[in-house]
Amino acid sequence: MIPVSEAIRIVVEKAGPLAAERVALGEALGRVLAEDAFADTDLPPFDRAQMDGYAVRSEDLRETPARLRVVGEAAAGDGWRGALRAGEAVRIMTGAPLPAGADSVQQVEVTREEDDGEFVLIERATEPGQFFVPRASEIRKGERVLEAGDEVSAARAAVLASFGYASVPVRRRPRVAVLATGTELVQVGERPSEDQIRDSNSYSLAAYASLAGASVERLPFAGDDPELLRVEIERAAGRSDLLVLSGGVSMGRYDFTKAALRALGAEVFFERVALRPGKPTVFARLPGGTLVFGLPGNPVSVSVTFNLFARTALRVMQGVRDAELFEEAAVLARPAKGAAERASYLPAVLSTDDKGLLFAAPLRWGGSSDFVAFARATALIIVPAGVKLAEAGSVVKVVRLPG
Ligand code: AMP
Ligand code: MG
Repeated sequence: MIPVSEAIRIVVEKAGPLAAERVALGEALGRVLAEDAFADTDLPPFDRAQMDGYAVRSEDLRETPARLRVVGEAAAGDGWRGALRAGEAVRIMTGAPLPAGADSVQQVEVTREEDDGEFVLIERATEPGQFFVPRASEIRKGERVLEAGDEVSAARAAVLASFGYASVPVRRRPRVAVLATGTELVQVGERPSEDQIRDSNSYSLAAYASLAGASVERLPFAGDDPELLRVEIERAAGRSDLLVLSGGVSMGRYDFTKAALRALGAEVFFERVALRPGKPTVFARLPGGTLVFGLPGNPVSVSVTFNLFARTALRVMQGVRDAELFEEAAVLARPAKGAAERASYLPAVLSTDDKGLLFAAPLRWGGSSDFVAFARATALIIVPAGVKLAEAGSVVKVVRLPG
């Protein structure tokens, strides 16, 4: 049995980044940059007015109010090409280039035009540099603006757009195949008979995998049939980067996942993690290179183990730098039970108090098979191995559940 942190370390080590591809910027949200991105222009590309008002020479406003001749107009996208001389002003709009000769902008609110706009009366002086953003003061041409491994967010899409990235070099999406085992399973559209249940893991796993950036395929059930399992795994391996199996990893008579993987020549990296729930989690690689997770079939275990391990692998494959779930501190709202030998990952609801302090309340639930209650959880509380009871009011680590 290995600690969770060690299992995550192995996952990060064994999963490698996938190939790069180019996608249109409009399709790039949530994708991960495969290369650094650079500025192809200065930003701003010219001295850019920050206010609607008048471009002026500050020395003309030593005494105010000052009356200046309005010699032109500079609008965004349509600058004024001349050069400002003593006693002159140019009407200017936000986003327009500052005309040559001007050293500042005065805002329209402290001005008044006279003589049909031929002159402007300016009531307040300006400082040189006032109300415009100098060329290249934000970014210089050639500067790195984003790094390989950055996820394309809404704000980063704007950065890419500004510097001409009509298409963006990103990591290929991992292809994930989800395979549910268990003779008891029927499809969601069917009515289970006495001994049967509907397959829910395929749907939670597929959803978590697509939240992690993968494209997902759900495979036909493999039952608890070692031969069928082998065939399905082999078929999926050829067309996926990662295979996620649910069920059949425990010690029961009909748990065949590990045997099937071994029969196919898989290299098993771990098969027991000091984790509650999720001890019998299996991580392996098939001879063709496809990574495989065998997750315990309990729907709560599936959610916990997928997000700790398989999600991490998917994010490493996409080149993300900090691939695993982000741990943060929260105050326990109620006591949480731990275990002697395994770290517990307990479903919880997060909230904040009026000072913004983060609280985690362990879910009231019927135990780890209660996946209906689990669906209310927004995070997992981590109770380290050896801590029998984490007291209310103590500070614990939590990870937020995706989705
Ligand atoms: P197993 O890991 O195969 O021993 O399964 C553990 C528990 O999870 C059993 O109660 C199974 O019926 C249940 N289970 C297994 N696979 C699924 C699934 N795909 N959807 C919902 N429950 C499942
Ligand atoms: Mg089973």
